[in-house]
Amino acid sequence: MNSRIYYTKPSITELEVEYATDAARNGWGDRCYEYIDRFEEAFKNHLGVKYAIATSSCTGALHMGMAALGIGLGDEVILADTNWIATAAPIVHLGAKPVFVDILPDSWCIDPELAEAAITPKTKAIVAVHLYGNLCEMDRLLAIGKKYEIPVIEDAAEAIGSIYHGKRAGSMGKFGSFSFHGTKTLTTGEGGMFVTNDADLYETVLTLSNHGRARGQKKQFWPNMVGFKYKMSNIQAAIGYGQMQRIDELIDRKREILKFYKDHLECLEGVSMNPEPEGTINGAWMPTIVFDKQTGVTREQLQSLFTSENIDARVFFHPLSSLSMFEKKEVNINSWNIPLRSINLPSYYDINQQYLSFVIDCISKKLEIMSKC
Ligand SMILES: *Cc1c(COP(=O)(O)O)cnc(C)c1O
Repeated sequence: MNSRIYYTKPSITELEVEYATDAARNGWGDRCYEYIDRFEEAFKNHLGVKYAIATSSCTGALHMGMAALGIGLGDEVILADTNWIATAAPIVHLGAKPVFVDILPDSWCIDPELAEAAITPKTKAIVAVHLYGNLCEMDRLLAIGKKYEIPVIEDAAEAIGSIYHGKRAGSMGKFGSFSFHGTKTLTTGEGGMFVTNDADLYETVLTLSNHGRARGQKKQFWPNMVGFKYKMSNIQAAIGYGQMQRIDELIDRKREILKFYKDHLECLEGVSMNPEPEGTINGAWMPTIVFDKQTGVTREQLQSLFTSENIDARVFFHPLSSLSMFEKKEVNINSWNIPLRSINLPSYYDINQQYLSFVIDCISKKLEIMSKC
């Protein structure tokens, strides 16, 4: 039997190890921010944004950004029902209510029409989550945001490398957030980034991120407001800085893996995968296969197949409104139905051709329900 085929694991080279070692050895005292500054600078350049703040997580970046926008008690924030809880948690922590709307059947991202329909006088933001690297319809979301004067936030945790009509995911909204968790395309172990082009918002989040101490405050230990502590360490940033120098190859490999899967699986009847519409580039964080209802293929079938073949079986996100702490919203039919007939496919940087073919064969041969490619 093959050794376990993981769905994801990081690609760490001597470069990252060297930087991390240097940070551990020398990055103290007045050098304790060196790698953080370098990482933020490299990230800004890559994304094409004016401001970036490295954080301990994407969740933290979202929490501070939402707090800086003044989201609070009784407010509403609209987001897709299909999502990881990390996007909803900060909304709840701020005393606001996440309003879950359905996803589009092909991109698995928020349906702009339903987002617009969900707007009330209490709506304080719309969050566009670029699921699995697939892009939200940003033109429509930004137009809705403009019409109702509601900021559009981009949670680009899964979308480094994704480009929408020349603009990188995370650079188009009021602010963007990224995650560098160990499963993501670029990793620092744990970590995140807050990005924006808005000078005032940047200043507020910078203050919030430093326990409420404003940059200009000369008085020691003198916070101007109650802030947060979501900082990235210099050692993590050293790894991130190394990863940034390899960012093109990290993204290219993800795209190559998705393409290979698409070339061999998308031609099967009743199968769809991460789309890449005209004018966009999919960063391909998580290759995902969705079976049409007519195929009869179920998540449970896929899980037991993968498990028996020693392949990680990572399920499509459950609808957040199906979790016990939220109100059920079964009207979000795509969010509730698609996960029942989908699975994420292994896609780590070092995965070899043999493993990729093995996964493809498992799906196309062992589930003998579809016409072959
Ligand atoms: C991974 C992820 C997050 C959370 O990132 P952390 O760094 O773990 O806080 C948030 N949103 C989405 C869409 C994610 O995939």
